[in-house]
Amino acid sequence: MLTSGWKSVSMVDVHGRVTFTLWLCGCNLKCPFCHNWRIAEGLDCFPLDREALLDELEASAFLVDYFHVTGGEPLMQWRELSSLLAEVKLLDIPMSLNTNLTLVGPLEKLLKAGLVDHVATDLKAPPELYGLPEKPAKKLWRLFLRGLEVVSDYGIPLELRIPVARGLNAWPYIEMGLGRIESDFYVVLNPLVGKPLTNPRDEEWCSEHCWPEGEVEELRKKLEELGVQVHVNQFFELHSRHTGRKIPGRA
Ligand code: SF4
Repeated sequence: MLTSGWKSVSMVDVHGRVTFTLWLCGCNLKCPFCHNWRIAEGLDCFPLDREALLDELEASAFLVDYFHVTGGEPLMQWRELSSLLAEVKLLDIPMSLNTNLTLVGPLEKLLKAGLVDHVATDLKAPPELYGLPEKPAKKLWRLFLRGLEVVSDYGIPLELRIPVARGLNAWPYIEMGLGRIESDFYVVLNPLVGKPLTNPRDEEWCSEHCWPEGEVEELRKKLEELGVQVHVNQFFELHSRHTGRKIPGRA
């Protein structure tokens, strides 16, 4: 199993929760804003020392709400992940999976085996945010919608992250996605940011679409009008306050 490492106590990977976070390598998408693209491309990766991970996880268990697996796309290595989660389950630690929800078959296998207690995913408008040509991106979007239904079928709580880009209207896709969710969920708006906060895969794309302006507040309002619980990524707000960068839409 290829990993780029883990963090035994993290307060930034699942909203309002403390996690033990593991990063797994590989991904089937090419999102232009991806700041973990080196992990997604399998760079900076090495074989997981499972014993060391489980020892450290056991020692940190009393501090964490979830063992959170992210990437890259963790389901690219779903067989090995499934056997790792089966071991974590024996430690009685709830498990959270951050997935792009396009590998629906593997996802269902993990859910069926009772190996996932919480899912986090990005709702990305195709084709732009997938970084792929229109046809495959639209196909992946349909798989994503099916993934949302599967998560709901199993009654798994969902953190729906919405990457917010400057100058792109994602609302029709957001409405489509919301229509597929029947389990407990909340939204985290993730305004896309570039350097120095992140190292995006495509800097040229980011110079055009990162650091959204009115889009964040506009989306927050629309979602709240629908009765959706919404949070805005705290680091965007903190950074904006710290640097004096105006938070879009705020006086
Ligand atoms: S943002 Fe997520 S889904 Fe997109 S390329 Fe990066 S790791 Fe893959």
